[in-house]
Amino acid sequence: MSSLYLETKEGSSVNIKGWILSIRDQKTVLFLIVVRMREQVQLVIKDPKLIDKCSGLNVNTAIEAVGTVKRTDRVPSGFEIEVKSIKTIVTPKKRSPFDLIGKNMPGIETRLDMRSLDLRHPLNLALFKLRAYMLSSIREHLTANGFLEVNTPKIIATASEGGAALFPIMYYDKEAFLAQSPQLYKEELVMSFERVFEIGPIFRAEPSHTVRHLSEATSLDAEAAFFNNEEMMELLERTLVHVLEDLSGRSEMAIIKAPKITAITPFSRFKYGEIVDKLASTGLHIEFGDDLDSAALKAWGDRVGGFYFITEWPNKLKPFYIKPKDDKVSLSFDLMYREIELSSGGERIHDRRVLEKRIREAGLPVQGFKNHLSVYDYGMPPHAGFGVGIERLLMVIAGLKNIRDAVLYPRDIRRLTP
Ligand code: ATP
Ligand code: MG
Repeated sequence: MSSLYLETKEGSSVNIKGWILSIRDQKTVLFLIVVRMREQVQLVIKDPKLIDKCSGLNVNTAIEAVGTVKRTDRVPSGFEIEVKSIKTIVTPKKRSPFDLIGKNMPGIETRLDMRSLDLRHPLNLALFKLRAYMLSSIREHLTANGFLEVNTPKIIATASEGGAALFPIMYYDKEAFLAQSPQLYKEELVMSFERVFEIGPIFRAEPSHTVRHLSEATSLDAEAAFFNNEEMMELLERTLVHVLEDLSGRSEMAIIKAPKITAITPFSRFKYGEIVDKLASTGLHIEFGDDLDSAALKAWGDRVGGFYFITEWPNKLKPFYIKPKDDKVSLSFDLMYREIELSSGGERIHDRRVLEKRIREAGLPVQGFKNHLSVYDYGMPPHAGFGVGIERLLMVIAGLKNIRDAVLYPRDIRRLTP
């Protein structure tokens, strides 16, 4: 048996390096919890001379210890190490301003100011391990379904897509922008690779400070030729169920006390118009064509619970590349978890003339799309896709209240450091 390349068989001799998370001094025996490769290992020191030597040790001190493995029921890992020798590698100059094992953690802004230290907290170790497992699980599922992982440029020439505000940057002597999504590139890529996905950063100059918006977020984008709207929704719900099943047995889910989430496919599908009508009958009036604001989404999310799709959004609420179903509504969907939007997607226009018309109607300069539009002359297949906010998904899976907890070093309208 071994734990992250550490031999844990009774009687094995091991050498470990790590940081002290906590110290429990029982006079005749000293217990050190050391974090090694993101896992907690209990060291037991019984030799009075060694206990004496450890008197200068503190939380966050990096040590190297040599000892013998003893199986035990005292700790969740099932083993501890009886120490034969120990030495200090690094002594921290300062004491941690917050307790790394207690329940009394300071507020999020204070923690974010010292994020690298905050990330040593066992809850954060578990959370970011889950984030990594979640990404592997997504990759595995999409790859098994014939999708090729790609990376598209994050520095773009024109403020192309409309909608969210972009961050302008200097690109040599020209103005350029940070990409708000890989939308147009992933659409072009289905011409050659048929099914593609990308997990990468998106940049959005969000105007306000909310618990669901970051200026730099991570997006899972998928796009596939010959898929229609319904097939894309099915791919998305299957991907989510796959991820939830993969994560459900993980010990980290218990550590972070992740909420129990039920996800049974097919998820409910509600048309935008149906929601507007039903909310009106409860006294909540949304003009057909207006966006569902947070009050409407809260009311609907409370009513239906769990995961569900909102489909057939009015054309004017969706970006220009979304295919209209008729002159009122589009072949589009948002995947929701209660009132939280996790994803937007839909079928795309693949006819150049229609696309050009929609760009014009959206008030965007057709000139800026010249190159993109020219691709459509060479046989662009019908296609569909979606974009999922990775931090939003982690919020839901881990039961986080603030999206900033789901990212290592968050960026928002007020925060650019650390
Ligand atoms: P919202 O209405 O919640 O602001 P949106 O409709 O503007 O989101 P889309 O352009 O549809 O967002 O982006 C696809 C997905 O990317 C969203 O469903 C969401 O999960 C995620 N996302 C978008 N903007 C942000 C952001 N600023 N921070 C974190 N995640 C985001
Ligand atoms: Mg959206």
